[in-house]
Amino acid sequence: MSPSAAVIWQRRPRALRGFDQQTTHPSPHRPIAPTIHHAPVTRFAPAPTGFLHLGHLVNAVYVWGLARRHHGRVLLRIEDHDRGRSRDHFESAILDDLEWLGLEPDEPRMEALRHGPSPFRQSDRGARYTEVVTGLSDRGLVYPCRCSRRDIADGVAAVPGTETPYPGTCRERRPGPDEQVGLRVIMESGEETFTDVLLGTQRQTPASQCGDVLVRDRLGHWTYQFAVTVDDWDQRVDLVIRGEDLLSSTGRQIRLAGLIGRPDLTTFLHHPLVLKPSGEKLSKANQDTGLAELRQAGVSPEMLLGEAAFRGGLLKESRPLNVVELPDLFD
Ligand SMILES: [Zn+2]
Repeated sequence: MSPSAAVIWQRRPRALRGFDQQTTHPSPHRPIAPTIHHAPVTRFAPAPTGFLHLGHLVNAVYVWGLARRHHGRVLLRIEDHDRGRSRDHFESAILDDLEWLGLEPDEPRMEALRHGPSPFRQSDRGARYTEVVTGLSDRGLVYPCRCSRRDIADGVAAVPGTETPYPGTCRERRPGPDEQVGLRVIMESGEETFTDVLLGTQRQTPASQCGDVLVRDRLGHWTYQFAVTVDDWDQRVDLVIRGEDLLSSTGRQIRLAGLIGRPDLTTFLHHPLVLKPSGEKLSKANQDTGLAELRQAGVSPEMLLGEAAFRGGLLKESRPLNVVELPDLFD
């Protein structure tokens, strides 16, 4: 560590308040020997609705570290399905941050992403999503839904802290010609079982957890659940690495993947999240410390990678970590 970097580290200026945040695990270090027996295809998939923060970097450390450790590949996917909140300048900033950190994907080339449409950007994949929904619709698995989020919340006695499942209000109903409708895929009852690399065997029941899955909302935007399922299949992603906050999405995505014809089962790894002392997730919307801000404050890529590895439970203590050392975290 250079002397100037050490000073910044010790003084912990306000810009570094992200480092005072905690993870889901009070004593986070837990060496893992993940059960990955193949060269995986995995992905780093940020939404350009804000700047990257330390939480994304924890994810990146797992993604690049495990892929390199097992001689696999990293795809970079821009998840801008939320057209209301995605911004081009956030996408550019994400690419800048990754380049600065030395985190290069195997596909696509960053330059290609910067200069035009790409199969790795969700807003460029509308025709493909339409094709997949049409296929499901032809099999009678899709129906129009006019319900707003509010309608659904009003109709069900919500239990605090749990998800409100869609009650199926529109299953048997035909919308009028002028109604703005979303599209839902029918989730029949039944369990989805999968083994998480870190968390072990998981059992989920999409029909009772979320009900019929919304694949396109009333504004015509594709949903996260649907877009990532189609993308992961088309891009042959077979190792999905993401935060524990998305654990409950996995069963429904496995179900959706089966419905769209994916024959093989993806491997999943859900890692600890960086939480604030209050227990909340870091959020771009709440102006939690962005990597760009830390970088401007003089923090080096090595310091950030080391901090992220520590926060993600992969190092006993924070120390500078070079990008080429990431695979060693998984020995
Ligand atoms: Zn409805």
